[in-house]
Amino acid sequence: MNAATPVNLLDLDEAALRRYFESVGERSFRARQIIKWVHQQGVTDFAAMTNLSRDLRERLQNEALIRTPQVEAEHVSQDGTRKWLMRVDSGNCVETVFIPEGERGTLCVSSQVGCPLDCAFCATAKQGFSRNLAVGEIIGQVWQAARRLGQHPKTGRHITNVVMMGMGEPLLNMDNVVPAMQLMLDDNAYNLGRKRVTLSTAGVVPGIDRLARQCPVSLAISLHATNDDLRNELVPINRKYPIAELLDACRRYIDANPHGEITFEYVMLRGVNDSVAEARAMVRLLQGLPAKINLIPFNPFAGAGYERSHDDAIDAFRERLQRSGLVTITRKTRGDDIAAACGQLVGEVQARARRHRRDVH
Ligand code: SAH
Repeated sequence: MNAATPVNLLDLDEAALRRYFESVGERSFRARQIIKWVHQQGVTDFAAMTNLSRDLRERLQNEALIRTPQVEAEHVSQDGTRKWLMRVDSGNCVETVFIPEGERGTLCVSSQVGCPLDCAFCATAKQGFSRNLAVGEIIGQVWQAARRLGQHPKTGRHITNVVMMGMGEPLLNMDNVVPAMQLMLDDNAYNLGRKRVTLSTAGVVPGIDRLARQCPVSLAISLHATNDDLRNELVPINRKYPIAELLDACRRYIDANPHGEITFEYVMLRGVNDSVAEARAMVRLLQGLPAKINLIPFNPFAGAGYERSHDDAIDAFRERLQRSGLVTITRKTRGDDIAAACGQLVGEVQARARRHRRDVH
């Protein structure tokens, strides 16, 4: 590294920071010290890191930096949900949402600018795919939210859970999502238990297996349909990894993490996937899996082309699942007055390299 290309230490988890310090002839425990300063204390100025030697502080000032996404706008919903538009470069912003509920505070984090998967009912899909976020741009959303919530220096634990359910498909950006999640779990950073970090995927099967090996957190699957014809239409990556293969991957995930359970998300679209017959089909599909189900009433956006199921259809669907012993909740719609609800995140993208539907990977 030289002065012309300073390394952003926010891109490095503990393992990578240790390698960095070793490569510059420093002791590897510096990694822990830096992580505490940055993630627990919210300090980004090396000069303030008083337990580092003067030489090291100077060296870091020349060779490294801590660059976080910048908060471009903040919206606060009537229900307390907050949405931040975070600028990650001159042309691109992503959205991050904080959802308080009693003692729990869930942060919904983005993994990509836009999304290549083109799910039929999702606003993010409409803007196409721009690029993957770097580690520092993912964990930087947590860093910024913690600061905005007054969590730095560590005064309270406002963020108790993180869900990788913002913009993008996290399993298509694993090289960066995994180190960012390692920092969420790190005792010296955000210290969240594995059950409090959830990754949601539209069904990237090889990524599910890799996640089991590299960073087994809570897994959520965006199911949304119980047969391949409909799922091909709603979640086009199903053409590559159909339902049977997806559920096999879920079984392997549970075999590797026997105490876990998998959340299945199911968006309720009026007249499309919300019949009681489909609830019965779901019961058959999920038999034998430790599963719980989140029904998500569709959140509309301009030009969506779908409508939210009627409340009585959602209730009947839920009751049918519950009657078969499946733990099912209907997700409350939060933050819809500020377009912060599931599937409404759009950020801002310059590149609109929308991919063809069949070319979903
Ligand atoms: N790409 C990942 C992460 C997105 S998570 C995934 O597909 O799982 C966001 C969740 O909200 C997913 O289950 C997604 O399918 C769902 N969703 C997308 N658009 C929605 C909308 N308009 N209304 C309700 N849920 C939506």
